[in-house]
Amino acid sequence: MSQTDTLEIKAAVTRSQGADFVIEHGSVRGPRLDEVRVRVVATGMCHTDMIIRDQYYPVPLPMVLGHEGAGVVESVGPMVKELKVGDHVVLTYGSCGHCLQCAKGLSSYCSHFYDMNFGGSGEHGEHALADANGTALGDHFFAQSSFATYCIAREGNAIRVSKDAPLELLGPLGCGIQTGAGAVINSLAVRPGSSFVSFGAGAVGLSAVMAARVVGATIIIAVDVVPSRLRLALELGATHVINSKEQDAVAVIREITGAGTDYALESTGIPAVARQSVDALAELGCAGIVGASRLGTEVAFDVNDLLIKGKSIRGICEGDSVPQKFIPDLVNLQMQGRFPIEKLVKFYDLADINQAAADSESGLVLKPILRMPD
Ligand code: NAD
Ligand code: ZN
Repeated sequence: MSQTDTLEIKAAVTRSQGADFVIEHGSVRGPRLDEVRVRVVATGMCHTDMIIRDQYYPVPLPMVLGHEGAGVVESVGPMVKELKVGDHVVLTYGSCGHCLQCAKGLSSYCSHFYDMNFGGSGEHGEHALADANGTALGDHFFAQSSFATYCIAREGNAIRVSKDAPLELLGPLGCGIQTGAGAVINSLAVRPGSSFVSFGAGAVGLSAVMAARVVGATIIIAVDVVPSRLRLALELGATHVINSKEQDAVAVIREITGAGTDYALESTGIPAVARQSVDALAELGCAGIVGASRLGTEVAFDVNDLLIKGKSIRGICEGDSVPQKFIPDLVNLQMQGRFPIEKLVKFYDLADINQAAADSESGLVLKPILRMPD
């Protein structure tokens, strides 16, 4: 297949702020340089898709969102080295591969992270997608825009996974699940025998709960306001749950732990909850912040509580993961039954994307996964 070949696609397009996704016919060009074109099998929906639809981070519209794609490599650009047509891949965030942070192996802090993931185009403003009229669409969302039947990614963000693994389940490993699990395993480096609190029991927070069990934390507390999510947290390894609508979460955490928690992870994006995650820490405890708020959001903390107790607060992007290693590790854990992400998901057809978004936002469904039509 020549690199200039375009393919007809179906894609969910976000045309204006907060608008419903619209399923449209369009086209995608062939892969160039180190790009791969992927036949998307299924894509997870993450809360981040919704906040971008709502322009918490301003991105150029119209745009094709979707950043938890899983699929099969359909064609490869001339500079692709390892991936082959037919490989099963999980798509993750984009990074430039040559800035200082990338060189250090910390690609989620790539100096070009915002442009590469939220810029709405490739380098030099170029687009891979067009609508049915041939007008360019915003794309390259998380270096993929995978709310579509085919998408363009780069070799560096298309992670090969075993063909024995359940591909249609794996897309969320590329963002939300990697973020929660990576925050616990990589960023906070939760130790065996320690205490961990997940503020938020959504897809990110419950991935953190599962990871805390894998690494051997002995007190694992999930805090949320949705009872069904707290019930699931208990099933996935939480030792205690707190409904913070009914109870003072910080006081209950102190009752359970004595001194406070060694580690906390805030995934609600709510400033008051971020504050709770710091207040709940024991001496030398660390609170990881992953919940996204509107640009410019601020949170206050008590300076003396922080310094006298040696507490720290750590922003975390994508769980500090090296995706080429971490995503296959998580696939192995899932296949061993130690990381049961299948309990978080509900499958929808792409055509039902707005229902999937509504079910996620109402708390009914934790992690919608959209199956692409054949
Ligand atoms: P989600 O909506 O499934 O989870 C948020 C949870 O917070 C929900 O279960 C909700 O019931 C709960 N909640 C709401 N109010 C609360 C309160 N007052 N106290 C306790 N819990 C409360 O979303 P998600 O997909 O799990 O994503 C979580 C956040 O992480 C989002 O903001 C998303 O944008 C962000 N995110 C960040 C990264 C990163 O790299 N930092 C990556 C992926 C997602
Ligand atoms: Zn970089």
